[in-house]
Amino acid sequence: MRDGPHGSASGAVPDESAWHATDIEAALSRLRSEAEGLTSADAADRLARYGRNSLPEPPRPSPLLRFLRQFHSALIYFLLAAALAAAVLGHVVDAAVIVVVVIANAAIGFVQEGKAEQALDAIRQMIAPKAPVLRDGHRTSVPADEIVPGDVVLLEPGDRVPADLRLLRTRSLLIDEAILTGESVAAEKREEAVAPDAALGDRASMAFSGSLVAAGQGAGLVVATGQDSELGRISRLIETAQVLETPLLRQVDEFGRRFTWVAVLGAVVVFALATLLRSYPWDEALIVVVALAVGVVPEGLPAVITITLAIGVRRMAARHAIIRRLPAVETLGATSIICSDKTGTLTRNEMTAGRIVTAERQLRAEGVGYAPEGELRDRDGTPWRRGEGRTDAAGTLATCGLLCNDAVLHDHSGDWRVEGDPMEGALLTLAAKAGLDAARERTAWPRLDEIPFDAEYRFMATLHRHGDGLGMIFVKGAPERLLAMCEVQEAPGGATGLDADYWTAAIAEAAAGGERVLGFACKAVDASVGTIDRAHLSDGLVFLGLVGFIDPPREEAVAAVRECRSAGIGVKMITGDHGATAAAIARQLALADEPKVVTGAELDAVSDADLPALALSTQVFARAAPEHKLRIVRALQSTGAVVAMTGDGVNDAPSLKQADVGIAMGRKGTEAAKQAAQMVLTDDNFATIVSAVHEGRTVYDNIRKVIAWTIPTNGGEALMIIAAILFGLTLPMTAVQILWLNLVLTVTLGLVLAFEPSEPDAMRRKPRAPDSSLLTPFLVWRIVFVSALFMIGGFGIFSWAKAKGLSDETARTMVVNVLVVMEIVYLFNVRYLHGRSFTWRGALGTPMVLAAIVAVVLAQLAFTYAPWMHALFDSRPVALADGIVILLVGVAAFAILEAEKAIFLRTGLMDRMGGA
Ligand code: ADP
Ligand code: MG
Repeated sequence: MRDGPHGSASGAVPDESAWHATDIEAALSRLRSEAEGLTSADAADRLARYGRNSLPEPPRPSPLLRFLRQFHSALIYFLLAAALAAAVLGHVVDAAVIVVVVIANAAIGFVQEGKAEQALDAIRQMIAPKAPVLRDGHRTSVPADEIVPGDVVLLEPGDRVPADLRLLRTRSLLIDEAILTGESVAAEKREEAVAPDAALGDRASMAFSGSLVAAGQGAGLVVATGQDSELGRISRLIETAQVLETPLLRQVDEFGRRFTWVAVLGAVVVFALATLLRSYPWDEALIVVVALAVGVVPEGLPAVITITLAIGVRRMAARHAIIRRLPAVETLGATSIICSDKTGTLTRNEMTAGRIVTAERQLRAEGVGYAPEGELRDRDGTPWRRGEGRTDAAGTLATCGLLCNDAVLHDHSGDWRVEGDPMEGALLTLAAKAGLDAARERTAWPRLDEIPFDAEYRFMATLHRHGDGLGMIFVKGAPERLLAMCEVQEAPGGATGLDADYWTAAIAEAAAGGERVLGFACKAVDASVGTIDRAHLSDGLVFLGLVGFIDPPREEAVAAVRECRSAGIGVKMITGDHGATAAAIARQLALADEPKVVTGAELDAVSDADLPALALSTQVFARAAPEHKLRIVRALQSTGAVVAMTGDGVNDAPSLKQADVGIAMGRKGTEAAKQAAQMVLTDDNFATIVSAVHEGRTVYDNIRKVIAWTIPTNGGEALMIIAAILFGLTLPMTAVQILWLNLVLTVTLGLVLAFEPSEPDAMRRKPRAPDSSLLTPFLVWRIVFVSALFMIGGFGIFSWAKAKGLSDETARTMVVNVLVVMEIVYLFNVRYLHGRSFTWRGALGTPMVLAAIVAVVLAQLAFTYAPWMHALFDSRPVALADGIVILLVGVAAFAILEAEKAIFLRTGLMDRMGGA
């Protein structure tokens, strides 16, 4: 420990000697704590004294810097240079307008970027980690930032160590300290003190904040929190700030940059043509081509796409899916296969132990949920309770379930909840129904040691010693596994040989109904045995019986599976559970009429070459271990599928990273899984994945709508200017008018598309191909067609106005207005690219759209009729009759656009051209 500059007001504890060299007893007394942890009151006191266990936020660029950064683009430099040129040439108004447009654009970008970042920040808060600690002698989880020096923290595989800990108890504990030491091999931990001069990597008696538990279990005393932890000292940050970048955004940025150069080049050519060929005054031509170049580049596009993504992230968060990495938003929309865990994701994970099978009898437990109320009854209905002279296997089994157990039940005034594994919670309830008193049993049989549950071995064992000296090992786990370990079974009048057929039939019967089946066994040992490992279980185990748990499928999951089917998304269940149980649940979920089941052992026998075909045709992978998940993802990806994969354990991290969208469980998931994942589900629910896919598709649709809508505006303007110059005509728009149009349209109508709700058929289409380009041939055609339409409309009204004898200024004002009207009708057309019909509810039901249109109309009225606008933009009032003509052009444009869409839809040409 160091003498912190923060003194006693921070998380540092007055220094004596290094914690790693201090004995456990001394460490506990120095922190005035105990192996059973602090009381809640004491913890609250210490929180006020030491402060929160968190690191300061990473420094952010100041708002000024962020604002200035908006100006950093070739295009803006280009525009500012043009403004300077205009000013020098005496076009003061033009120069001022350009500057105002540039500033307005920067301000919009600044606000949008800020909003997007705020949304992501808020979401980060939602997955703030929790940690299990001992308070008031009980295990509870508290937010990691409320941990105080003196707390006793429990460590399990996959957990992130929440503070610096002096380890009190370790059980094969391995901790990955790469974040601190850069060492990639996990370090072995022990509770014995080490030499005072040990280097950080050699302090085996310590667990440091930010490191990850790779395997084993342990408990540690918190010695430093927040900034006083080793992590705080090196002030490296665990969570780096999320960057607003995705493949799509990069593609659009790249596209924009290339476009800028093409535009600049084109501008030079047009300038040369205009001055040399058509003898426009060079200063006027310069400003026109600058405006042209600016008009043609969709400078607002990246900002609108960012906001579209951010809105998608926010909508997903509202539906319990937290995006950790922005690219997942796009990938989700292309997902073609979802691989999901069963327990807790497809099922409710609210377990009820309903069935007990021993060699002698079958019992049913009454009641559902965790409330310890109800009776156990024999087949003939007679109640069964322990005691009352009964000493049969059912009683031993219930004791085994109670003691070989890490869960705790809490009574929230009649609403019973589990802290820990729900299946273990159900066993506590079962024990209570069997007449056991948990507290009394635990005192009578203190636990000396344990082998924690491991998805690889599928069992868990604990060692207990009775007050009278009798030692006992209790084991529970996957029944086939336990049957293979036992040679005898408990039966009336003593142990007899194992009747494997009887048990197999009982397992099959329970599993066929979708019950999760667990086996139980025990072994008496000498009083001298103080620790256990797997070798102790190689002989002498007595099989006690089975318990069947009911864990019904989630109702939302059934609907979500149906939605996946219509959306062309395959669903695979990957579970550690028994094949028959998993198949029964799959049938209840309607994953398939007759689901194909493959077990982990069968997968091991399949070669990598044969795996893809097998993986595609299988719906249920049972008795699968985490490493199977990795093989399955790879095999599916090799067929071109975009795979989303769920996971919760520390061993799931590799497959979560490999998947296109790794999804971690927010509730039961470990920190390791969350860090590897791109998305976290706060409700652990399969239906949430499907709604995130739905949002992902909407985001992608909306981005394409933004592009399909934005580019033709710029295209139409550019075509008009180029044509006018080529044919030596009067320009139908001035430079500042082009800038006005771009500005007024981007901030209103363009942004509306980012907020569009899903189209009704979003989940009735097949997933898009992952390599499909943003602009399908159909969209390219659309952009060309609409640009041409805009040009014709603009030129048409200009010629008509001139023919009527109106001034250039009035004719130009009409051009600007006609383009705005056409943009509005095009907006409605583009909003339903997949639907053919125009419905009033769809058209006017979104307040955003109405607000945007009102804003545009008001802006255009000002542009046309306000004297100060006339001064700025050289606009003129338009007569009512002419205004009606402008509206009629809009109606005509709408009819043409709808007819075109209908033709393409009806002939199937739209699909053949890559779809909308
Ligand atoms: P799932 O995919 O259903 O979550 P798990 O990998 O958690 O499956 O569990 C696989 C099997 O391991 C279960 O079917 C059960 O037989 C056994 N098992 C699960 N949890 C425990 C536990 N806490 N103690 C003993 N055995 C367990
Ligand atoms: Mg599980």
